[in-house]
Amino acid sequence: MFLDLRTIFITGALTCFIIGMMQFATFATGRFSRSPIWWGASSLCIGFGLLGTALRGEIPDWISIQMANTVLLAGCLLLLTGIRHFAGRKLYWLGFGCTLATIWALLALMPGVQGYPKRVAVFSLATMLCDAAIVREAARLARTEKLRSAWLVALLFAPTVVIYGVRGLLAAFDHVGTELFASDWAPVGWLAGTGVAFIILRGQALLLLAAERSNEALATLAQRDPLTGAMNRSGLEKWLARRSGGARQAGQPASILLVDIDHFKRLNDTLGHAAGDEILRLFTDAVRGQLRSGDILARQGGDEFAIVLPEIGADEAVRVAERIRSAFREAARALAPPAPTLSIGVAEVELRGRGLEALLAEADEALYRAKRLGRDRVQVRVAPTAA
Ligand code: GH3
Ligand code: MG
Repeated sequence: MFLDLRTIFITGALTCFIIGMMQFATFATGRFSRSPIWWGASSLCIGFGLLGTALRGEIPDWISIQMANTVLLAGCLLLLTGIRHFAGRKLYWLGFGCTLATIWALLALMPGVQGYPKRVAVFSLATMLCDAAIVREAARLARTEKLRSAWLVALLFAPTVVIYGVRGLLAAFDHVGTELFASDWAPVGWLAGTGVAFIILRGQALLLLAAERSNEALATLAQRDPLTGAMNRSGLEKWLARRSGGARQAGQPASILLVDIDHFKRLNDTLGHAAGDEILRLFTDAVRGQLRSGDILARQGGDEFAIVLPEIGADEAVRVAERIRSAFREAARALAPPAPTLSIGVAEVELRGRGLEALLAEADEALYRAKRLGRDRVQVRVAPTAA
């Protein structure tokens, strides 16, 4: 079956306008960053580019060829800009403008029927490079932020890198004919129709990307204590559930530190609640400086914190606890006296298959002993001996 190319281009243009409006509406919800604005602008550009191309022969060439192709490429570059903006990467507006000006000039230098293969070669090369850059950015996002929809974006842009590459090569060797709409080769129409389907899928994948990151951010927020930025109890429970399910941890030691600030109520009463908050933040900053990247700091509530040290036995955990005490003492030097101190209970535990309550109970006994013995000290859980 032969598909009419002009009709497909016009359908594609209208589709782009609708997708562009959806992307602008997504931005207007206020839940996302400004990236959907770039994607919306990109969809409008691609829409106008396709419309201009569809009217080739009906309107002056400088509009249907030069302007339409430059606007199409601007649409591709805006997609790239949106993804770079989304990833927090630098935007190169000068490069953006120079690329478009160069394409405009090159297209002007290749007019008419005889210039057609060269125009196809130049446009295909530029679009191929742009799509390749999008694939690279999306794959980078997928790796660094672990966003699954970024892989989908990379997957949806990868085929056009190949298609434009092949088309560019065919054009360079003069195998693309002399006119866009003169082809009577049926697969051209089907290819163009598939292209429109890809435009829709890409638009959806980009919105999915923004939604996935927003959901991740909300989930992270829900697992954090807003005052100190430490994990909250629910976050620790989820971390533990993930961690204790892994076979890798079987038989490996881990340690739990239960830390409580001494006489915190008194500090609150004498220095004020705001100063108490500041001490809590000071504490978490001091602790973070002593932990490895895989260690976990979670606020249990009030002035009590749990620290999980995977793959660390009790002896090493006591050294970490002592380091935390002295780091906190150093950090608290600047505060008005009395200087706050810490009591820490340490327990070596097996993470696998254990619930949070059971793990904390082991360190709690040692913490209780540290308090009873006069506070400002580290105590280790004594393993029960066999009868
Ligand atoms: P101990 O040495 O036995 O631990 O005595 P303590 O005074 O520290 O007793 P406890 O740990 O029970 O006191 C916790 C206090 O922490 C009680 C509460 O007023 C205070 N608190 C709880 N949450 C916050 C908070 O978010 N900010 C501030 N500033 N204080 C808090
Ligand atoms: Mg306390």
